[in-house]
Amino acid sequence: MQDLVGLSNEQLTSLLSEMGEKPFRTKQLWQWIYNKGETDFFKMSSLSKAFQQKLSEKYIISRPEVITEKNSTDGTRKWLFRFADGNEVETVYIPEEDRGAVCLSTQVGCLMGCKFCHTGTQKMLRNLTAGEIVGQFMAARDSYGEWPSPTNETRFLSNVVVMGMGEPLMNYDNLVQAMRILTDGQGIALSKRRVTVSTCGIADKIPNLATDLGVKLAISLHASNDSIRNKIMPINKKYPLEVLIKACHEFQARQQHRQYITMEYVLLKGVNDSLENAKELIQLVKGLEVKFNLIPFNPWENCGFEPTSNNQIHRFARVLEDAYIAAPIRVSRGQDIMAACGQLKSAVKKIQEK
Ligand code: SAH
Ligand code: SF4
Repeated sequence: MQDLVGLSNEQLTSLLSEMGEKPFRTKQLWQWIYNKGETDFFKMSSLSKAFQQKLSEKYIISRPEVITEKNSTDGTRKWLFRFADGNEVETVYIPEEDRGAVCLSTQVGCLMGCKFCHTGTQKMLRNLTAGEIVGQFMAARDSYGEWPSPTNETRFLSNVVVMGMGEPLMNYDNLVQAMRILTDGQGIALSKRRVTVSTCGIADKIPNLATDLGVKLAISLHASNDSIRNKIMPINKKYPLEVLIKACHEFQARQQHRQYITMEYVLLKGVNDSLENAKELIQLVKGLEVKFNLIPFNPWENCGFEPTSNNQIHRFARVLEDAYIAAPIRVSRGQDIMAACGQLKSAVKKIQEK
């Protein structure tokens, strides 16, 4: 049985044409799958009985299996999803006052090996398919019963951040296909302004993101110079800061609607958190439209790093703000269920060890 979730519009059209169906059927089926969230062909009332039957003989509309669902005291919800081959990833929903973001994973584990990140210590197993990336969102929406996809601005699951397990730009084609499905106006219809892809800095892929997708970009920067970045992020040896920043300029130049880039910055005590570092950052991002996101470090066992004190984080923020750069300090969410940034691996391991 082939899963229809994750096929592009063109792929679905050609599959239906092989079955002898007219192109307008694609639109109908697409809406049932992505707008109404229907998984049973026989409930798709606008399709003929014969067509329902034919579809059900060869195809399925699946979801990842929910292994666990945990709710944090702050409203964050985290799922452990299992795919058909037994691989598992974690997906998190983070509610805000008037909206909410689903944090999607793109790989099982990650090969980038950033020193402060727990996911980075998990040897990668494989890339997720487009269907598995979209499937996480759809399963999250099932969990909130938010079908059909709401058209107003009050939807629960309004935003997507690709900030879960894995490096999205190392799985570029599947990422692009998945984001196109999530933002397709006939289906789930997320606004592109509400989708953010975060990367540790695969510089040669960054400019294309603006033309291929037009979604928002976040860079896991975490250092103000190469000598620090080399120590904590191995990817910096391949794409040093000068190359990365150049790619950001190119990204912004290609954007149809110019938007700020979010620079994520985890503060590590004594490593990257001096006021000198903050001043270096101001120079580094000159000419770019950016906003910083200062992230308090979430420690994990034997990580070798300590979080910066709150006072120092505020002093650091102040230096950036004095240079008119927005630098909000991110409030850590879902820590009690190990759903906060960089914590995603340990929970998987713990569950598997039980
Ligand atoms: N691989 C992509 C997407 C993952 S995003 C990327 O690195 O951008 C996950 C975010 O959490 C990244 O900004 C990452 O640097 C950050 N992070 C990783 N470990 C963390 C930790 N222990 N505490 C706080 N943030 C962490
Ligand atoms: Fe991978 Fe991102 Fe973690 Fe680095 S921070 S190891 S790129 S998930």
